[in-house]
Amino acid sequence: MKMKKTIQLKDSLSLSESIVIIPHKNPDGDAMGSTLALYNYLTQLKKKAYVITPNDYPSFLKWLPDNDKVVIFENNTQLAKKLIAEADHIFTLDFNHLGRCGELKPLLEANNKATFVMIDHHQQPDDYAKFTYSDPAMCSTCEMVYHFIEQMGDLKLVNKAIATCLYTGIMTDTGSFRYRSTTSTTHRVIANLIDAGAENTQIHEGIYDTNTLSKLQLKGVALKNLRLFPEYRTAYIKLSQKELNDHNFKKGDTEGFVNIGLSIDNIVFAVIFIENENEGIIKMSFRSKGDFSVNQFARNHFEGGGHDNAAGGKSDLTLSETVEKFMSILPQYKTTLLNS
Ligand code: 5GP
Ligand code: MN
Repeated sequence: MKMKKTIQLKDSLSLSESIVIIPHKNPDGDAMGSTLALYNYLTQLKKKAYVITPNDYPSFLKWLPDNDKVVIFENNTQLAKKLIAEADHIFTLDFNHLGRCGELKPLLEANNKATFVMIDHHQQPDDYAKFTYSDPAMCSTCEMVYHFIEQMGDLKLVNKAIATCLYTGIMTDTGSFRYRSTTSTTHRVIANLIDAGAENTQIHEGIYDTNTLSKLQLKGVALKNLRLFPEYRTAYIKLSQKELNDHNFKKGDTEGFVNIGLSIDNIVFAVIFIENENEGIIKMSFRSKGDFSVNQFARNHFEGGGHDNAAGGKSDLTLSETVEKFMSILPQYKTTLLNS
C-alpha cells in the first residue's frame, strides 16, 4: 500500500471503536495466521477487534495463538451478525472478492458505513475496499501483514504470538519455502519472525506432524486413485464421498494431496476432485509448475480462481461427469502444457 494511504488508514483506525477481521471460507494456514496476527496487533493498539471465520477450519490450525477468540459464523451466527453490523472497520484477508467468504457476503455488504480494508495476494482483486493492499507477487497474506505492520511503523509490536501466526501462514502458503513466490525478502521476514520468538521446529510439527491413521490411509486411497496422462503432463486424483466417509474424514484431511501428482517427474499440472455431498458440489484444487496458469484455467472452466500455480474451483456435476468434463477440456491446453 502507498505510504500516503497507510497514513490515511492509520488516522481512520485511530477513531475506530470496533473492527472485524474476515478470512475466506475454509480458511487455511495463511488465512488464519494473517487474521490472528492482525487481531493481536490491533489489540496491542488498544482496539476492539474480532476475527470472524465463515466456517470451521482444520484442527491443525487450532493451536495458533488467540485461536480461542475466533468467532465461527456457522457455530455462532447471532454474535457474528451483531459484530459485523456494529463494525466501523472491516479487514478482509487472503481473498479477492466477497463471494469467497460464503454466507458472510450479504452481511458484509449490508454494513455500508464501515471502512473496508483488503490485504491479499490473489490476482484480479475486486474493488470493494476503501483501502486495498493487493500484491499478487507476494507469497502469502502473512508476509503482507508483516509489511503492513512495518509501514505502520510498528515492527516493535511483533511479539511471539504475531511471529508464530505469520511464520505459519508464510510456511503453509509457500509449501515450506519452496514455491517460486518465495523471495529473499520472504526469508528476511522469516528470519525476523524467528528473532521475534517464532519457534520454527514447533510450528512445522504443529502443522505437519498431526496425522491420524485414518488420514494416512485416506492418502493411500488417493494414491491408488491417481491417474497419469503423460501426453498432457497432467495427473489427477479423485475421492468420492464414500471414500471420505470410510476414512472418518475431517476438514483439512486432504490438504496437500493435490501436490502428490505434481511431485511426479515431468508432470506440470495436477488436480484433485473431491466429492462433497453435503454442498452438492465437487471441489477441485489445481496446481501447476512453470507458466501454465491454473488461475486462468479455474476461472475459464470451473467457477474458481486463485494464483498462477495454485487455484481452486467447483462443479455442480457428479464426480464422474466432472472428471469427464475435465478430460474433454484438456486437449485444448496440450501445447501450453507441453511447453510449460
Ligand atoms: P486450495 O486448492 O488450496 O483450496 O486453493 C488454492 C488457492 O486457490 C488458494 O489461494 C485459494 O484461496 C484459491 N481458491 C480456492 N478455491 C477457490 C475458488 O473457488 N475461487 C477462487 N477465486 N479462488 C479459490
Ligand atoms: Mn494465501
